Amino acid sequence: MLITVSGLGFAASHFLAGHPTCGRLHGHNYRVEIVCEGEPDDRGMVADFHDIRAAAAAVLDEVDHRTLLPGKSSEVSVAVEGDEVHVTGCKSLVLPREDVVVLPVRNTTCEELAVWLHDRLVEDVPSLVNVRLWENERSSAAYP
Ligand SMILES: [Zn+2]
Repeated sequence: MLITVSGLGFAASHFLAGHPTCGRLHGHNYRVEIVCEGEPDDRGMVADFHDIRAAAAAVLDEVDHRTLLPGKSSEVSVAVEGDEVHVTGCKSLVLPREDVVVLPVRNTTCEELAVWLHDRLVEDVPSLVNVRLWENERSSAAYP
C-alpha cells in the first residue's frame, strides 16, 4: 500500500551555474511530496503520518530560508572563510555563513535536490519509496 504526505516545503535561494536565466541568484517556494510503501501494521498504518512529517521537517529546516550552494560543482568553488562563504568561478558572491547551506550536489537543480532530499529522508523514513520536489507549480523532479 502507498501513502503520501504532501504540503511540506521550504523557501530558498539558489542559482544554476552557467544557465542564461537561472544563473542569476533567485528564489523558490519549494514544495515536497513524500510517498511511502508497505503493509499496514497492527495499528493499520504503513507509517505514522506524524513521524514522516517530523522527519521531513527536521531535514527541510536545514535548507529553509537559506541560499543553497553546490559543494561538488565544476563551475563554481565554495569556500568557508570564518563567518563568510566565498563563491568564485562563473559567479562571485560573498554570503554570511549562517545564511548558506553547502549541499553535496553538482548543481542545485530540482533533480539534484530531490536526490539529496531522498537520501537524507530515507535514513529516518525506511518505508520511503519516492520524493517529489516542486520548485514551482509547473516544475518538479521525483526520485527515484
Ligand atoms: Zn531556480
